[in-house]
Amino acid sequence: MSEVDVLIVGAGPAGLMLALWMARLGVKTRIVDKRTDKIFSGQADGFQVRTLEILDSFGIGERVWKEANHLLEVSFWNPDENGQIRRDGRAPDTIPNISRFTESVMHQGRMEAFFLDAIKASTSPKHPPIQVERCIMPTSLDIREDLVDDENAYPVEVTLRYLSEDEATPTSRLSNLQDGLFRSNLTASDTESIIEKTNGSCKEEKVKARYVVGCDGAHSWVRKSLGPEFAMVGESTDAIWGVLDIIPITDFPDIRNRCVVHSAESGTVMVIPRENRLVRLYIQLKEVSTEGGRFDRSQITPELIFESAQKILRPYSLRYHYIDWWTAYQIGQRSGNHFSKLDRVFLAGDAVHTHSPKAGQGMNVSMQDTYNLGWKLGLVCKGILRPEVLSTYELERKQIAKDLIAFDQKFSKMFSGRPAKDILDETGVSMNELQNAFKLSHLFTSAVGISYQPSVLTHEQQINGHTGHNDVLSPETVNRCRVGMRFASYKAVNQSDARPWEMQHQMPSDGRFRVVVFGGDISDPAQLSKVNALGDWVSKKLLPRYPRIPLSPASSPHTGLLRFTTEQDPSVIDVLLVHAAKREDIEPLRDLHEAYHPFDEKLGWDYGKVFVDGESYHEGHGRAYEGYGIDKKEGAVVIVRPDGYIGLKTRVDEADWAQIDRWFEGVVKPRAPE
Ligand code: FAD
Repeated sequence: MSEVDVLIVGAGPAGLMLALWMARLGVKTRIVDKRTDKIFSGQADGFQVRTLEILDSFGIGERVWKEANHLLEVSFWNPDENGQIRRDGRAPDTIPNISRFTESVMHQGRMEAFFLDAIKASTSPKHPPIQVERCIMPTSLDIREDLVDDENAYPVEVTLRYLSEDEATPTSRLSNLQDGLFRSNLTASDTESIIEKTNGSCKEEKVKARYVVGCDGAHSWVRKSLGPEFAMVGESTDAIWGVLDIIPITDFPDIRNRCVVHSAESGTVMVIPRENRLVRLYIQLKEVSTEGGRFDRSQITPELIFESAQKILRPYSLRYHYIDWWTAYQIGQRSGNHFSKLDRVFLAGDAVHTHSPKAGQGMNVSMQDTYNLGWKLGLVCKGILRPEVLSTYELERKQIAKDLIAFDQKFSKMFSGRPAKDILDETGVSMNELQNAFKLSHLFTSAVGISYQPSVLTHEQQINGHTGHNDVLSPETVNRCRVGMRFASYKAVNQSDARPWEMQHQMPSDGRFRVVVFGGDISDPAQLSKVNALGDWVSKKLLPRYPRIPLSPASSPHTGLLRFTTEQDPSVIDVLLVHAAKREDIEPLRDLHEAYHPFDEKLGWDYGKVFVDGESYHEGHGRAYEGYGIDKKEGAVVIVRPDGYIGLKTRVDEADWAQIDRWFEGVVKPRAPE
């Protein structure tokens, strides 16, 4: 029986995000998928801005950003007094200034290819290669409960079955066009029938794993194998939606805008302009009915979906020569009550929450699930993190799933409903209400407004009984440094070479924690002395207590060089200084403690750790302190977790260092004697 630290079941967006973390952290991992190949077209296409920030932290963001179509504007079309559709309003698709990215679209298969490249590039002598193993599915999963408390044990035993290409190819395609019905919820899962059909005829292998993660989609076999208490809870609506990816030929003027078009009698279409002149149409199918139950999917054809779109967009004409992909689905809104069993088997992505795709959430939330889980699991496997931290996965992500379902129920209802004729029409949907809901929901749908609850990983600082946050979350305040929220990005100028940097670029997803010292105005000698005293404490007391971490060559362009010049891995805690003095008033080697420009025998001083909130020569002033909501005189200290979320915000003063100490003590294990 072979042994593996992490076994991932399913190589969709959730599984691949997790595999990438494991590759970056150097964890012995296998990832299996029952299908022959990855997705080539269709399925999810919308990337929310937080997802783009995350992909950027792995070095893939730029590829997506370059290839994807950027959604900048959304327009709302509604019936006028004569029942004809007309443009009722326009709005920015992404709230300006909440991120350096805007919502973008590109098909899922392309992104999965970028993941595979990034996983491959992570390999090094300390980072074992990880490859997706296709045509493999689990057929049994047992947890040895007597072993779960032993950190180093392999308590999860899984049988893997090797399928032939034929067995692993979906049989439910309805046409020779690329269709996604076999992954849609209108189709029953084929997992059980494949297992039954291949009983006794296929090679099997037993694997012992420390952790198993079910990223196996909405019909998750892993979830079902954990018992009835893991069943998803929720409902299906009667609305059936069709999806077409076409290159449209139309005189509808907003075809290159994201649009929501409500017709008086023929239903609703959502238009999503895509890359390569493609446009995705989401269409509510009026012509078909579920009669309260599951729908007869043989009634659905691309022609039927297309004719519905034509009716909704009348009097504008619509035709096409090229269709890329199509599917249909019934909206179901469900989530699981448990995201993990004994913190040894975890569920992520569609395996534990499903909802309508129209707000472009599923793939994003799925990847964000495993982005949250990945560093925790990886650092526990490396012996760096305390295993108790794993319980924060369910705490943090279950709430997001619940909020998502609540949002989706409200949004889908407004979306599918008939437009109200006037204010007295109580059964119709008010179009003003839909537009407002669209705008207000953006902090949640973009995921920049997500806030994790207090736990060992998110300590709210208490000063005289106050948490220091009285401001309401709004587009103007969402980027402030708040515990539980993501560390936003502002530009700051490198002290030594004047290059402006996005602060998020100083925090790649490499498994390290960041202590960001906002030093304030260090041209004031008293403030400089506080900042240097903190540096002394960090380098003499904090860093020596905690382990080092080998960095993958793909984590940073410099790590390749470091590998050849220095034997020592860096500390799992990285220290950055962002000050608010004038750049010309500070000489780092003269004025600053070595914690802020660490020295290495072979590499000299590190000039990449000190930044100024000031004017750059070519890219303006980042106004980082203002954006982060930090006082320029006093400064602050912020602990950023490896996933870019803020774990602690405190003051530079010596009296508050104990909070930093306590935070790390609760999360990271002390360094083993070298
Ligand atoms: P999946 O993508 O379903 O991946 C699961 C993987 O597990 C698959 O590769 C499958 O082959 C494998 N697997 C399944 N069972 C087994 C088994 N027993 N053994 C081994 N392997 C197994 N989301 C967005 O964020 N934005 C969008 O714009 C968007 N648009 C969408 C449009 C449509 C039409 C649809 C249907 C969905 C859309 N979604 C969108 C949702 C998105 O596609 C899903 O939420 C996302 O793919 C979920 O990712 P996942 O990795 O959890 O699961």
